[in-house]
Amino acid sequence: MKTPKVNYDCAKCPGYCCSYPRIEVTKKDIVRLAEHFELTADQAKAKFTRSYVFKEGHPKDHVNERILKHKKDHIYATTCQFLDQDKRRCSIYEARPAVCRAFPEGKKCGYYGFLKFERKCQGDKDFIPTA
Ligand code: SF4
Ligand code: SF4
Repeated sequence: MKTPKVNYDCAKCPGYCCSYPRIEVTKKDIVRLAEHFELTADQAKAKFTRSYVFKEGHPKDHVNERILKHKKDHIYATTCQFLDQDKRRCSIYEARPAVCRAFPEGKKCGYYGFLKFERKCQGDKDFIPTA
């Protein structure tokens, strides 16, 4: 089967999507992480994830989920702990959560379009807009 053509190139991007504060993990994702690191699911859950609860405003906006822990970064404020911050690549690619596999859902990545536009305007192919 032919791989669908996409209009973005993650190899030219510093991994903006890996700086999203809420990267949700399911039970299945935790089991995959546990197998990858040869841990129990409980150990992987405690080591790599934390709870995110938001209960303000309308009940339909409330959130109660498990998300990946972050670490400080030299480009964005923080990134997912699994981003290799020198190579700007996922260090657990085969074991990454479903949400990372699905992103950006479609042929386009909004951030990549922005990145390309800014690099063209600045005349600098390595420029990284951070705000
Ligand atoms: S923000 Fe877009 S281009 Fe950058 S790594 Fe994520 S999916 Fe790839
Ligand atoms: S698991 Fe990998 S792809 Fe997903 S946010 Fe973390 S570094 Fe990025």
